Amino acid sequence: MKKLKMDRGWSLDKSRAPTHCPLMWHGLSDRDGESLYPCCRFDYFDQPGVPASKEEPLVSSLNSKEFSEWRSKMREGKQISSCYKCHEDEKIHVKSERECALEEIGPNLPSTDTVELSKIQNAEAFVGNHCNLRCHSCNPASSSGWASEYQRLGWQWHTIQQNTLIADSISEFTGLRILKVIGGEPAFSKKFEELILNTPHPEKVELHISSNATRVFTDNVLAKLQKFQKVRLSLSIDGYADLNEMIRYPSKWNDIEATAKLYLELSKTQKNLQLILHTTVSILNVFELLPLINWWNALRNNSPRSKAHLSILRSPSFLSIQNLTKNEQQRALQLLNENSDPLFDGIKRELNGPPAQNPARSELVDYCEKIDQSRGTKFFLRFKKYIDN
Ligand code: SF4
Repeated sequence: MKKLKMDRGWSLDKSRAPTHCPLMWHGLSDRDGESLYPCCRFDYFDQPGVPASKEEPLVSSLNSKEFSEWRSKMREGKQISSCYKCHEDEKIHVKSERECALEEIGPNLPSTDTVELSKIQNAEAFVGNHCNLRCHSCNPASSSGWASEYQRLGWQWHTIQQNTLIADSISEFTGLRILKVIGGEPAFSKKFEELILNTPHPEKVELHISSNATRVFTDNVLAKLQKFQKVRLSLSIDGYADLNEMIRYPSKWNDIEATAKLYLELSKTQKNLQLILHTTVSILNVFELLPLINWWNALRNNSPRSKAHLSILRSPSFLSIQNLTKNEQQRALQLLNENSDPLFDGIKRELNGPPAQNPARSELVDYCEKIDQSRGTKFFLRFKKYIDN
């Protein structure tokens, strides 16, 4: 039977799970505070999620017409267009969210398409969009700062809801194994504190948190985290020093470094804590990944409960590395080839793929220049040396 070798030593038997994803039955995400999705990689620009409200029981939305149709399609072995981010990752042999779920939950199709909350193993709970940063790859659904700046810029965003549907019902998720926190920045969120307090049997739950590393959790929160079976704390950092300050505006590098050091120290004694440098690779930072990884490796100094993870940005597409020309791909590859760490293999494979035929360059330039004008920054001036004019 043909096995496909994956990054990080894992292999998937593709013949048993060609297209279906366990999260369609065992996953639930309310990542934008207004609709439900099987996971946060499901693209809501491609098709909207299932509308949900405080008045409607979550289980009705979970068994709605939309979810039933997605499940039937997967049973028939058809691809769902909104799952394209997983399929794109798999094409370049980068472990997709779907493959993580197959590994965690197993490749067998469930016997029934009717789902109960107690059968959800992997939940992604929105805790509100309050955030102090306005990162280039983010939007008002996940950042209150962006919501105000969109208004100033006269840009449109569909409605912003603050319903914390899953967090408010978390005690009903009795079969939970993985709980991912979606924000906003959880270090500012009271709802996050409530969520970790009310999670059933935390000693059986792996908690995944992403933080922008500008602020450390309070002692009270850090104490509550010790109850969980495992805590995977990802620090979202997209560049070294001033590059991060510009992409993840208006963060200050000194704060980021101090937070990373503090958590690394903590992971030495708190055995359930794993610390991850999580970098979203886009056209904006693909030319400067090495200084960031070198910084992280020096800081963590082989600490066993820490690692780095690179994920490839797919949306908005004009920020994606799929939008690079042949020359730009070669330039980025030349820089990355200075380092043979397997961490970069997926990015290198993507850069060796077909170049963009018609790169959406005017959208990229317009986006960066408008943001610079609004903030009084000079990011585009710094960045434009990497791209063809
Ligand atoms: S295939 Fe990917 S995008 Fe689709 S439900 Fe699974 S994890 Fe989410």
